[in-house]
Parts: sequence; C-alpha cells; structure tokens
Amino acid sequence: MLPQDLHIHSTWSEGDASVVSEQTIGLIAELRHARTVGISDHFELVGEDSFEAYSREVWAAGLKVGMEIDGHRWLPAAEIAEADYRIFHCYDRDADYKALDRLVQTGQPVIVAHPNALDTNLDRVPPECLVEINNRYIWRCNWRSFYGPFVDRFEFVVSSDAHQPHWLGQTVARYVAAELGVREKLLFGA
Ligand SMILES: [Zn+2]
Ligand SMILES: [Zn+2]
Repeated sequence: MLPQDLHIHSTWSEGDASVVSEQTIGLIAELRHARTVGISDHFELVGEDSFEAYSREVWAAGLKVGMEIDGHRWLPAAEIAEADYRIFHCYDRDADYKALDRLVQTGQPVIVAHPNALDTNLDRVPPECLVEINNRYIWRCNWRSFYGPFVDRFEFVVSSDAHQPHWLGQTVARYVAAELGVREKLLFGA
C-alpha cells in the first residue's frame, strides 16, 4: 500500500478526455491503494456550483477533498471553496506565482502540480508550497536537473495523477485477485 496519493481524478472531471466512466469515487475508495487518498478533480470542470456536492461525496467516502486549479483565473472561487488541500497549475506567469502566495494564506496545504510539465520556475515558488513528483509526467523530463537543485528548498509529495483505475498501479489487478481469493504465485524468490 502506498503511503498517500492526493492527486486523483474521478468522473467529476467530466470533460477531461482521459477520465473513464469507471473512475468513480466509490471505486477509488474501495481500491484503497494508499493509506491517505485524496481526490483532486479539475475545479473548472466540477464547477463552482457543484463543488459542494462533489466535496460531500468525497468526504462521505472517507477521502480527502482536494481540487486542481488551472492557474490564477480560478483563484477567487477556488480559495473560498471548502476543501482539505489544493493543487495548482502554476504556469510561468507573474499572476500565477502571486496566486500561490494567496493560496498559502489559506493555511491549508498547497501543492504545485507537475511543475516540469508547465515550465514552472521553482525559483519563484514560495517555499511554503509543496512540490509534486507526478507519476504521469515525471518520466518525461530530465528530473535530476529539474528537481535536483530544489530538494532542500521544498517538501515534496508523490502522486499518481490517476484518471483511470489502472493508473493507480497494479492496484486494480491486485484488488481483483484478492476479491477472487487468488493467491499470487511469487517467482524468483520474491
Ligand atoms: Zn494537471
Ligand atoms: Zn491532474
């Protein structure tokens, strides 16, 4: 079991073409692939008016309520929406770095989403922010040179950014095997 996974999308991110209809809050909660599980659907796709219904469903499933905010434009609505933490797309623009300053003042965790995929300048990110190592994007960059200089400046979280059940690792296959009562044959002295 993973220690935590706070970047997961569900069917509440309808409109994101990568999300499949099976990626429900119920299934994610049942899979329990991590000790701490948080849902972080795209704020603009959930919609301001539906955010409360979304958070109710996530909390009722025993999961943490997050959101993924696409830049400063969504800040006014996103900062007042009730949640446990926020994930932010910080593009390399003044207004986005300023938005991070504002979000930090909520007193709740602020995670900078996959900075390597957005050309975020980590030098300009407030050190109170958490920086994400994102399973979907991390392998697409020279992560040693991108993240290496900042390992002492920030604290980090590791996330799946799962949009589909099998993005949660081997979890689905293991879940099914367990449900079937199948005991996996471990090879090579595992
Ligand atoms: Zn993202
Ligand atoms: Zn995401």
